[in-house]
Amino acid sequence: MENYDFIIIGAGINGLALGALLSKDGARVLVLEKSREIGGRAWVQERGGFQVDYGMHLVRFGKESVLSGICSALGQTLEFHNVESTFLVADGGQLEIPARGASQSMNMFAGDRTLDELKRVSVQAWMDEKGMGRRLRRLFTATSATLNVNPFVERSSVGELLLNLKKVGESEVGAAYPAGGWKPIFGLFQDWIGKKGQVRTSTPVESIMVQNGRAVGIRTREGDINAERVVSSIPCQELFKILDDKLCPPGFVAKCRGFRPTSGIVLDYGISGVISPGRNLWCLWEPLSYGFFPSNFEPRLALPDHQLLTWFYPLEKFQVEDNEASRGLKARLEAAVFALFPALPERIKWSRSLYLPMVDGAEVSVDQTREDRPEPLVPGVEGLFLVGDSVGGEGAGGDIGHNSVSQCYPTITGKKI
Ligand SMILES: Cc1cc2nc3c(=O)[nH]c(=O)nc-3n(C[C@H](O)[C@H](O)[C@H](O)COP(=O)(O)OP(=O)(O)OC[C@H]3O[C@@H](n4cnc5c(N)ncnc54)[C@H](O)[C@@H]3O)c2cc1C
Repeated sequence: MENYDFIIIGAGINGLALGALLSKDGARVLVLEKSREIGGRAWVQERGGFQVDYGMHLVRFGKESVLSGICSALGQTLEFHNVESTFLVADGGQLEIPARGASQSMNMFAGDRTLDELKRVSVQAWMDEKGMGRRLRRLFTATSATLNVNPFVERSSVGELLLNLKKVGESEVGAAYPAGGWKPIFGLFQDWIGKKGQVRTSTPVESIMVQNGRAVGIRTREGDINAERVVSSIPCQELFKILDDKLCPPGFVAKCRGFRPTSGIVLDYGISGVISPGRNLWCLWEPLSYGFFPSNFEPRLALPDHQLLTWFYPLEKFQVEDNEASRGLKARLEAAVFALFPALPERIKWSRSLYLPMVDGAEVSVDQTREDRPEPLVPGVEGLFLVGDSVGGEGAGGDIGHNSVSQCYPTITGKKI
């Protein structure tokens, strides 16, 4: 029977990043992925000469990000192209949001409560308490939608939002796009894993094998594979599809199953010609959504004299899952994007719409703060670890996943990245 130091379930960005770090330490790592392709929710699709991300994929804090630190530890310095300007588009006008200035002035609103105390307070309750006017409310709601990936201000956590904003204020960089796109990052991780182990696609894990309270390997259709330790990088909501729920405390099982992800609709366009230059991020107020041109950051993603545009509309999961309603919402979004870029409709070479019940593994809300997320250790099962964007970590959106790698790796090895 095959035997590895580590089996990692799932070849998304975070399973691969962790696998690469463990491989660099000399471990034999097997990564098993159920799909035909690696990448998970950060999958990159080749489409008619374009390299298309799975929706918008910016990296907060660019060269200062945790992801950048992970790649440095693997011997690769990542270069980034920073977002230059962010515009809020409302009532037919555009307002530039100065990220650092906004973060500094927003921190003044924290008042005498600590940001930790504000974690259980909603953005809505806080705006009411402060008696904010229409413009400031819009600004905070748009910031909650982009930074917390949560436009639902009645449950978005203001403490988390201000903590995230504080980090933006302290950073030299806001959001950025990796030079060369995401493919080379995946390539780096795969190369490290391939030195002693391998990444195997089209191989769904059916169950995690546990003996005497210890994870000893996994079961696939083709047979069992043993490992000293097992890491699950699938979203915590799905963990108990492959792990016997009787092994863990009921409270932990309920928490994992019930964790609310973020959801939404994505529109991507391959465009002939250049309809809008600049490394900008736009946030539409109606409907509350945001997007950018990835090829303005990395021209190699598009054919010469072409552009790529991606747009994200955060929604409730039930809205995305309702076929008829979501088609209507998509039409509304598309009309607003066309109004912002009037040259777009005639220049579309191809378009793609995605209706995604899970965008990020964890929505950042008053009942789902960083303290509420599962930790890398699985209670009740030794030798089993969790990583991914529904696990531990600070921040919001994809940040959580990268932070979870930097939390899981020391938990396993006792070493810092
Ligand atoms: C539209 C969109 C926009 C986003 N925008 C951003 C952004 O701007 N910035 C950012 O940082 N993040 C962004 N994210 C979030 C980011 O993509 C995710 O946080 C990240 O991809 C999650 O990676 P992961 O490895 O934790 O999980 P996943 O990508 O979900 O990886 C888990 C893998 O496990 C596999 N798997 C599941 N079950 C099994 C099984 N039984 N056996 C084997 N394999 C299995 C899955 O197929 C998957 O490949 C966005 C996501 C989406 C969808």
